[in-house]
Amino acid sequence: MAWVTGQQLRLYNSLGRRTEDFTPSKDVVGLYSCGPTVYSFPHLGNMRAYVFADTLRRALRWKAVQVRHVTNITDVGHAVADSDTGEDKLEVAAAKERRSVTDIAAFYTETFFEDLAALNVLPADVYPRASEYVEEMIAFAIRLEELGYTYRLATGLYFDTSKSPGYGTLALLDLAGQRETGRVEHVEGRKHNSDFALWRAEEPGVRRLMRWNSPWGWGAPGWHLECSVMSMALLGEHFDLHTGGVDHRELHHVNEIAQSEAFLHDDQPWVRYWLHNEFLLLNNAKIAKSAGPVPRLADLVEAGYHPMAYRLFLLGGHYRSQLDFTTAGVDAAQATLRRLIARVAPLRPLPVAETYESARALVEDTDKAALAYVEAIDAAISNDLATPRLLATLQDALRDPDITTEGLRVVVAAADALLGLRLADLDPAEVDNRRPATDLAPQEVAAIERLVAERTQARKEKNWARADEIRDELDALGVQVTDTATGPTWQLI
Ligand code: AMP
Ligand code: ZN
Repeated sequence: MAWVTGQQLRLYNSLGRRTEDFTPSKDVVGLYSCGPTVYSFPHLGNMRAYVFADTLRRALRWKAVQVRHVTNITDVGHAVADSDTGEDKLEVAAAKERRSVTDIAAFYTETFFEDLAALNVLPADVYPRASEYVEEMIAFAIRLEELGYTYRLATGLYFDTSKSPGYGTLALLDLAGQRETGRVEHVEGRKHNSDFALWRAEEPGVRRLMRWNSPWGWGAPGWHLECSVMSMALLGEHFDLHTGGVDHRELHHVNEIAQSEAFLHDDQPWVRYWLHNEFLLLNNAKIAKSAGPVPRLADLVEAGYHPMAYRLFLLGGHYRSQLDFTTAGVDAAQATLRRLIARVAPLRPLPVAETYESARALVEDTDKAALAYVEAIDAAISNDLATPRLLATLQDALRDPDITTEGLRVVVAAADALLGLRLADLDPAEVDNRRPATDLAPQEVAAIERLVAERTQARKEKNWARADEIRDELDALGVQVTDTATGPTWQLI
């Protein structure tokens, strides 16, 4: 397919671990994002996965590639600790919260949608629920059984990974070693440690809350099955793009690929591009729901941050780099957002420039500066979705004395079509969480002024190290010092 819109879009494909040209295989590209398991609130780390998928979608829109986007809702099948024999996460939550599984799923699905909307994530075309596809999952597993990829145990139906020639390619698994040692859970009769359950049969005498009848007895589907079945049902057997967090690259997606390629049996890769976002870390560890209370978007909002500040915080890092969640980081993002909105508000209304072509068409040929910025925006997003570069380009344009106001309006609109920061409509007052200095107690003001004076003294003595140290201390107090011709002034940020 000819590529006519700007630079070639290049994406890092986890399959092969290299940056590759992205070429659509169909007029409407299929994009599948592994969605949340709705047994508790989505945390800030989970939302990174969806802001990342949204960035990809916006990049494809920029390139005038039509997309059909599916994000699943896992409301059955995901066992605790990602195991094959453990209880279902939703059933555990239902017992703990003394609510029905249906209530739990409906409630947490709703909070997920609220967070997506607050983060300005474009809605997917379909949000299929795993529980609505169980019959299709059973049919899929029957086919795998007919093809000879499975074996039965008392605990269910298992996929025999030794029958899948490319098993583990995505995870770069060393077959000889990893297949045997990759997993810790002991399952009686399992042939290889990497074999996984397609069907999890009920233990005798234990009745599951969510149960279906199948050729392998009453029970529930294995977790990996839903994504293969629902993506093929909604996007066709083969499609172009599949996303998720890096944890999925090691297990869930490996198993999705194995069973899907076995099912299709056509010697073609099932999905062409696999993209994974790195983790959001808290105190140097992956944020994980299973480890106890974890910060969620609503907590940030409660603390006075705008959801767009969190989005900006995320986009300030590349999706393939780990990102440490710190208060200082979101503080800085909120301050940057406030300054951005203040700077952009007088340029409103912004034009619509969602595609490279439309942005180019809106800029006058004589406006060399604006044209260069549109090209720079295109270059940044084409380079494996380099959002930090894109943000820097936007800031450069906003500071450039040589750009026309009309040109700048297009550049801001184009950048925001990709960043999704609501630069076109966010009310400056909504992102201003600065405390007025009048809220401070007299002794707080005195302490700040003492530090500012000390810093002035250090600068006079050319003791730059000490001056920087004091600036850091002031930063930590949320105080920003500005040096003016008549001496330093300060404000709370
Ligand atoms: P889950 O609800 O646990 O199935 O996860 C939903 C999505 O969030 C998946 O794509 C995970 O890979 C992703 N994810 C989970 N934890 C993190 C994290 N700390 N940082 C970034 N992505 C994450
Ligand atoms: Zn999945």
